[in-house]
Amino acid sequence: MLPIKHCFSLPADTVYLDGNSLGPLPVHAQENLSRVLQQEWGQHLIQGWNLDGWMEQPARLGNTLAPIIGAEPNTVMLGDTLSIKVFQALSAALGLRPERRVILSDSGNFPTDLYMAEGLIHGLQQDYELKVVEPDAIEAAIDDSIAVVMLTHVDYCTGRMHDMDRITQATHQAGAVSLWDLAHSAGAVDIDVSQCRCEFAVGCTYKYLNAGPGAPAFIYARPDIADKIEPILSGWLGHDKPFAFERKYRAGESVERFRVGTPPVLQMAVLESALALWQGLSMAEVRKRSIELSELFIEGVESRCPMLDLASPRDAQQRGSQVSFAFEHGYAAMQALIANNVIGDFRQPNLMRFGFTPLYLDEKDIERAVDILSDVMTNRLWNKPEFQKVKAVT
Ligand SMILES: *Cc1c(COP(=O)(O)O)cnc(C)c1O
Repeated sequence: MLPIKHCFSLPADTVYLDGNSLGPLPVHAQENLSRVLQQEWGQHLIQGWNLDGWMEQPARLGNTLAPIIGAEPNTVMLGDTLSIKVFQALSAALGLRPERRVILSDSGNFPTDLYMAEGLIHGLQQDYELKVVEPDAIEAAIDDSIAVVMLTHVDYCTGRMHDMDRITQATHQAGAVSLWDLAHSAGAVDIDVSQCRCEFAVGCTYKYLNAGPGAPAFIYARPDIADKIEPILSGWLGHDKPFAFERKYRAGESVERFRVGTPPVLQMAVLESALALWQGLSMAEVRKRSIELSELFIEGVESRCPMLDLASPRDAQQRGSQVSFAFEHGYAAMQALIANNVIGDFRQPNLMRFGFTPLYLDEKDIERAVDILSDVMTNRLWNKPEFQKVKAVT
């Protein structure tokens, strides 16, 4: 039953509404990491790769993560960061449609996804094109010139959520390949990649999945196409037989070929503990609670802070697990809020962003956050010089 607050190490008296950016530390991860450090690395040294299963861990954890996004067994691989996984998946997707030249995305996409597409196009040295349209113009822009439709399911700024099934269907009808970035969806909303039939999905594990700063990203490939992919990042651990040290690259089986180099074993230990918390949780229940908490927050803020404008879709069905409000002095207001132990974040140009994570939040937290936000706004607590100075990470 939710919440499972006791499973997380959260500072006392803090309402944490930023789990959409960096999830909190799972209590059990500390013990597990220290065991891996002391017993596995400390005692087993290089034998850890065999004795402690370090080599298989990225695939094993892929199977633990799979049910959270509705993926079939042996279709998810962990490693690298999300930017890298976007690059790999996009390149693989283009390889499936060699006769087409257009990548379609939207202006709500996270910048790194678009940057990686630009970099890939530059590297390919062919006449590829990245076409970026407004989020609500996506479906109309899908035609038979498009090779890949690459979208982020939930908008990082506003929480606006695309209809994954419908867009994937339209993509397939046009003969294009579907690539979804689930950075703000995995562990936040109820998704089912196998039912959706998208070819690729990628996402990170340090947001709603709570695996810590720099935790490895995941990549999913639909089982029927995984073996057709020619990896662009043809690293030795994606080779069919890494320890044969063959002169030529030969791709490993299915999603094994998305591995690149040595996995981050210590960070994987944290991920293992973080994923263990999802055993027995139903994503439908998590989603239901997320909507209840978000609605309570919106209702409270709208009735008590009339100077804030809802920048997220009002309809919960079109919204992920975050809510944003626009306010001219949003940065300073967020700093004032943080100084009062309610942690959210700020996104350009004027968005105060709040993430709702039912694993460790309940109604009391939301009520407290609304009380404090209302105090900050009504009494203009943000209007102090110390809250105006913009930090490097917002
Ligand atoms: C958070 C996020 C990223 C981050 O990429 P990293 O390589 O992990 O830094 C990329 N894309 C989207 C859509 C995100 O929300």
